[in-house]
Amino acid sequence: MSGVGSLLSIRGTTRLAAVIGDPVRHSRSPSIHNAAFAALGIDWVYLAFPVAGGQGHDALRAMRTLGIDGLSVTMPLKGEIAGAVDRRTEAVARLGACNCVARDGNELVGHNTDGGGFVAALKSELGCDPSGSRVAVIGAGGAARAIVHALGQSGVDHLVVVNRSPDNAAVAAALAPQAVVGSLDLLPDVDIVVNATSIGMEGGPPGSPVPADLLRSHHLVADIVYQPLDTPLLRDARLIGAQTIGGLGMLVHQAAIAFELWTGLAAPLDAMSEAVRIGLADA
Ligand code: NAP
Repeated sequence: MSGVGSLLSIRGTTRLAAVIGDPVRHSRSPSIHNAAFAALGIDWVYLAFPVAGGQGHDALRAMRTLGIDGLSVTMPLKGEIAGAVDRRTEAVARLGACNCVARDGNELVGHNTDGGGFVAALKSELGCDPSGSRVAVIGAGGAARAIVHALGQSGVDHLVVVNRSPDNAAVAAALAPQAVVGSLDLLPDVDIVVNATSIGMEGGPPGSPVPADLLRSHHLVADIVYQPLDTPLLRDARLIGAQTIGGLGMLVHQAAIAFELWTGLAAPLDAMSEAVRIGLADA
C-alpha cells in the first residue's frame, strides 16, 4: 500500500497501537507493525509516542482513556510499566520488565515478548527446539535475562550465563532453575551459544564476544545483535561450519507475538522481516 493510500484509509474506525519510550523516534516497531497491518489489510495504525521516564502511569491512563489497543514499551519505561499494569505475565513478574501491553477486557495486561521471540525464532527459522539442550548465554542485561527465563521455561537441560560483571550474571542465572554462572571455557561443551551482549552492535564494543577457537562445528550460534545483521561472531561460526541465526529473527518474532496478542491474528512474518530489512538498509 502506498503512503498516500495508507493515510486515506485511516478513518474513525481505525484502531491504534503505539510504542512508548524515550528516545523512540529511531524505533523500528512502527515500520514492522504498519507493514503487518498493511499485509493483512486490517484497519489498524501504529505510531511512536515519546514518553519520558516517570510518565508510564500517565501513558497507561491514556491507553485506557483513548482506547489504544496495544502498546510496545521501550527504554526507560519497561520497569515502570511492569509495575503499573493491572495484571502481568509470569515473565514480566520475574523479569520486572514489560515490553508489550495488551487488553483483556477492561484489564491492561503486561507481557514480555523478547524471550518468547528468541525461542520462536530458533524454532521457526532453524527447526530447533531448545528443550534438552545445553546452552551458554553470553550477557546478563535486559535481553539476556528475558532469554535465560524463556530458555528455562522451554526445558533446556543446562544453561550457563557468562558475563563481564559477575553480579549481573548471578541475577540472570537466578531466572532459570537450570542456570549457573560460568565462564567462556565451558563453551565447547554446550549445544547452543547465544550472544546477548552489545558486542558487535553498530556503535557498541567491536569484535566478537567469543574467541574463535572456542567455537565448534556442532554449535548452533545465535547472535541477537541485529544492526548489523551479520556480525564477527556469526562469521567466525560459519567459517567452522556451525549453524547460525542472527538477531532479525528475534526482533521479528517478539513483534509477531505482540501483534498476535493485540489483533488475535497470525502475524505476517515475511512482511515484517522485509520491513526490518528495508529499514536497516536505509539506516
Ligand atoms: P543491556 O541491558 O545494556 O546489556 C548489555 C550487555 O552487554 C550486558 O551483559 C553487558 O555486560 C554486556 N556488555 C556491554 N559492553 C560490554 C563489553 N565491552 N564487554 C563485555 N560485555 C559487555 O542491553 P540489552 O538491552 O540487553 O541489549 C543487548 C544487545 O541485544 C544489544 O545489541 C541490542 O541491540 C540487542 N537486542 C536485540 C534484540 C532483538 O530482538 N534481536 C532485542 C533486544 C536487544 P555487563 O553486565 O558487564 O555490563
